[in-house]
Amino acid sequence: MYFGASSSLNTCSSVSAVALRSKRAIFLGSFSDSIITAPIQIDILFKLALPLDTMSKEIVLIGRSNVGKSTLFWELTGTKVRIGKRPGITQYPFKTKVGNVFYVDMPGYGFMFKTTKAEQEKTKDLIVHYFESRAEEILLTVQVIDAASFLDIADRWEGRGEVPFEIELWEFLNDMGLDVVLAANKMDRIAKVDLDGALDLICERLGMLPPWNQWPDKIAPISAKRGQIEPLRTIISKRVSVNHPD
Ligand code: GDP
Repeated sequence: MYFGASSSLNTCSSVSAVALRSKRAIFLGSFSDSIITAPIQIDILFKLALPLDTMSKEIVLIGRSNVGKSTLFWELTGTKVRIGKRPGITQYPFKTKVGNVFYVDMPGYGFMFKTTKAEQEKTKDLIVHYFESRAEEILLTVQVIDAASFLDIADRWEGRGEVPFEIELWEFLNDMGLDVVLAANKMDRIAKVDLDGALDLICERLGMLPPWNQWPDKIAPISAKRGQIEPLRTIISKRVSVNHPD
């Protein structure tokens, strides 16, 4: 079974093309009334967006809208993500090089004001296609969540009988064999006394056994707005130094 398979976490073995195709189908298929964009359009977008050094490794940031992904991207790279008047995918994936590594900002998925269902589906298709086509180049995937609202949102989705998108995405990325870390952002919005409890619950929801602090390589509690992102920097440094030893 694909969903809820906690044992799939930390699987780093490569998966067959057939298995990946079926994961892709499940992932995309979970969005009802999906309008699947023609692959050719997505390919053109990639060619326009990714003309640079394709041999360099990438650190990819992904998360739903408003979790603080752009703020984190700025903290990590010193580069502002280009933001148009209206969120769309034409400017994505946005890339910038820091040292030997490209940082890639994926479009924020979610239910943004004025975003049509078709645009949302396009975004999801782009995300899946990106991870499938560039898995070899991706050194680390950083899934950013708003730790302060994650549990409420997950409860709401589950209350409607749906698998919360962020949980589904986490499983999709891990099952692809990617190295994924959870950046639990906006920790400053959680009372100190509740920090451990909240992180334990998030951990559990994602199929990892609490306590959260036994997963120092998978969970990084941060506050991007306050520049408190040390746990994530530590994880990134480790991955980069393994790949690009001096
Ligand atoms: P994105 O849509 O995921 O790119 O989110 P943004 O980076 O644009 O941030 C969305 C909102 O969250 C903005 O108002 C940010 O100032 C705020 N924000 C980002 N990081 C943090 C954080 O660590 N703590 C708090 N309290 N707010 C944050």
